Amino acid sequence: MRELNEKCAVVGVFGVDKAALIAHLGLYAMQHRGQEATGISAANGARIATIKDRGLVSRVYTDESLSKLPGCAAIGHNRYSTAGEDSILDAQPIFARYALGEIAIAHNGNFPNARAVRAKLIEDGAIFNTSLDTENLVHLIAKSHENKLQERILDTLSQCDGSYSLLFLSRTKLFAARDPRGFRPLSLAKLGDGYMIASETCAFDLAGAKFIRDIEPGEMVIFEEGKEPRSVNFAKEPIRKCIFEHIYFARPDSFLFGESVYAIRKELGRLLWEECKTNADMVIPVPDSSIPHAIGYAQASGLPFELGIIRNHYVGRTFIEPLQEIRDLKVKKKLSPVKELICGKRLVIVDDSIVRGTTSRQIVSLLREAGAKEIHMRIASPTITHCCFYGIDTPQQSELISHKMSVDQIREYLKADSLRFLSIDALRKAARCKGDFCLSCFDGEYYHDPANNSVSNAA
Ligand code: AMP
Repeated sequence: MRELNEKCAVVGVFGVDKAALIAHLGLYAMQHRGQEATGISAANGARIATIKDRGLVSRVYTDESLSKLPGCAAIGHNRYSTAGEDSILDAQPIFARYALGEIAIAHNGNFPNARAVRAKLIEDGAIFNTSLDTENLVHLIAKSHENKLQERILDTLSQCDGSYSLLFLSRTKLFAARDPRGFRPLSLAKLGDGYMIASETCAFDLAGAKFIRDIEPGEMVIFEEGKEPRSVNFAKEPIRKCIFEHIYFARPDSFLFGESVYAIRKELGRLLWEECKTNADMVIPVPDSSIPHAIGYAQASGLPFELGIIRNHYVGRTFIEPLQEIRDLKVKKKLSPVKELICGKRLVIVDDSIVRGTTSRQIVSLLREAGAKEIHMRIASPTITHCCFYGIDTPQQSELISHKMSVDQIREYLKADSLRFLSIDALRKAARCKGDFCLSCFDGEYYHDPANNSVSNAA
């Protein structure tokens, strides 16, 4: 199940009538990547119009509001932001007027060097409206001495090291760029006579677009009316695709980094069984995100797969409870055991990951209350011992349970009969990793020096 903060989705549409309507569909399909705020900017050749607000895609847009976003080009964004922030100011796309005209930007990722870049800009007289790292880009584009927007964007990206899938919309063009390490996904599709770009391919499926290929790490694709899209390879670095997209973050029906998310999750479950065979009466997923992993585990083991925990889909993900007693009820509100099924039974509970341990602990307690005889927790990823600086929201390292405790101590804390995590080797094998994935949350191998890190507001 999903408990913590999630990061963003971006979508772009070019050369399609009523582009904002299509962008809206894309955002709808990618709601799982961010539920706090959403926005769309559309360009009709003469101007850029933007709508953005707090809340879910289904609440923010109406037929009437979308009709105020005319044009054949649009970009959109779904955002998760940390509780308590003024998230309407921090909603994207960010819009600005500058020497060459108008620009809107949508960003998924993180710039670990953002604070230093911002400090320098402020020293030089820049004024900031938002707490977003992404706002640095607007200033760098505005200050660049290059004559064309394309060159200004490349100039800007050369100064902003980090993880990004970025969309830039001008009044007449759209630019889609993926960082040189390829941390975050970004794919390209054909839609009628035009194109669609999205964080995940599930956006294409809803809009009826046909997947062409991933935008490559270090590639920027430029869309301009009456021309075929052009591609610029602007930088080369060792590839570090985010493994956590496959484990948890992406939708299972997406095709991501050249692989089916669903197939990889099942493989994680299969390997988990291979590594740790368990005698039990049934295999139960923690819904919804762990269902494919648990299917993989159950099919490999031959044990019955049962939906022994039911999720209430009407409990908001970003619901912030003011009282501790109510917070304690949070998991209980969201998940409930099917008592008749599990009472007196030996259960294998499969979850995709353990972060703080809060969810697993409460699940074990709910299952015990419901009469489970044995509870064996099986986690389809390794222990998360380090925080992510590249776009997945994780708490401080000191809050990560696997940083503080050994596996046996965690088992004791959860009050489970047994607890096993997948090995890093098995994870690599499932993802067919050839050294081209970022595993930093599991192995602490960062490409930058975390001592100089300044991740504040990931987009
Ligand atoms: P925790 O209760 O802190 O151990 O969180 C673990 C649960 O949250 C797992 O069931 C995961 O499905 C989910 N999860 C893991 N990572 C994240 C993340 N970055 N954002 C939101 N949910 C997450």
